[in-house]
Amino acid sequence: MVDSFVSRDGSRWLPEYLSQIDASCIGCGRCFKVCSRDVMHIRGITDSGEILRDGDGADDDEVERLLMIVDHPGRCIGCGACARVCPKNCQTHITSD
Ligand code: SF4
Ligand code: SF4
Repeated sequence: MVDSFVSRDGSRWLPEYLSQIDASCIGCGRCFKVCSRDVMHIRGITDSGEILRDGDGADDDEVERLLMIVDHPGRCIGCGACARVCPKNCQTHITSD
């Protein structure tokens, strides 16, 4: 269980950690740009639904669309910046595990 934290002015705030991004993500990259913690990365998806990994030799022609993947959720500090910039409201945030 995570307690609330204290801001510089003494006010308390409760972190909301990014836990997952659903399939309605359009891969716009806005969340990645505002995140300082390297929590998520963009991946290509084939028309058969396979998520391609960086460096797997996949041909760009195979990529049907892009999707943001939460591959390092443990790095998240729960700042909420990614949620504020997402145009699809496709992220889930949690207050603790
Ligand atoms: S809540 Fe903050 S630290 Fe966590 S993934 Fe979003 S932008 Fe990054
Ligand atoms: S901001 Fe939203 S729609 Fe854009 S890549 Fe991130 S999760 Fe996907």
